[in-house]
Parts: sequence; C-alpha cells; structure tokens
Amino acid sequence: MYNELDNWHKIYNPCQFEKNICLKNRKDNTINGCCPTCKLNTAVGCSIRSLGCKLFLCQEAYNNLSNEAKEKYLNLKFMISDLKLYIELNYQID
Ligand code: SF4
Ligand code: SF4
Repeated sequence: MYNELDNWHKIYNPCQFEKNICLKNRKDNTINGCCPTCKLNTAVGCSIRSLGCKLFLCQEAYNNLSNEAKEKYLNLKFMISDLKLYIELNYQID
C-alpha cells in the first residue's frame, strides 16, 4: 500500500518540492514540507516509511491536483481505510 501511494506521488507530484521547499512552503516561507520539526526527518529525508504521513495532503496540495489524480488519491485513501477497519476487526492489538 505504501509503495502504491509512493508511486502515485511520483506520477502526480502533488507537493512539487524544489530544494526542500514544497508548494505550501513556498507560500508560507518555510522548508521541509510537513516535517520541519519531526525527529525522524534526516538530511536525506524521512528515515521511516509511514503510511499515515504518505497519505497526508494539505489542502493546498490537494486543490492543485488534476481530477484524475484526485480520483486515484481518493481510491487509495478508501482502500487504506478499509484495510484499517479489517485489521481492527480481525486482530486485537494489546
Ligand atoms: S502536503 Fe502540503 S505542506 Fe505537506 S509537503 Fe505537501 S505541499 Fe507541503
Ligand atoms: S515520520 Fe517522516 S514523513 Fe512523517 S513527519 Fe516525520 S519525517 Fe515527515
């Protein structure tokens, strides 16, 4: 699922990073996208593969997507919600 989202990002490039400055950062005059204060952020990017982080899009990035990209994003989002529900219903995590 993570890889599918990653591929979607590669195809549609929603955050449009240029030198660690994303679409929204360019408006806000900040850097490092959504991760400026996260301890898992390194000089070469995120040190883990977080599905939650990969799924997140700010309103700025979402609004900038084509209809096709939005449709594929929403499909992936629903699939992840279904997967989460399946895990919650079938596995008890202590
Ligand atoms: S989701 Fe928004 S704030 Fe986060 S990296 Fe993408 S454009 Fe930047
Ligand atoms: S876990 Fe990774 S992607 Fe998520 S906020 Fe931290 S550095 Fe960013």
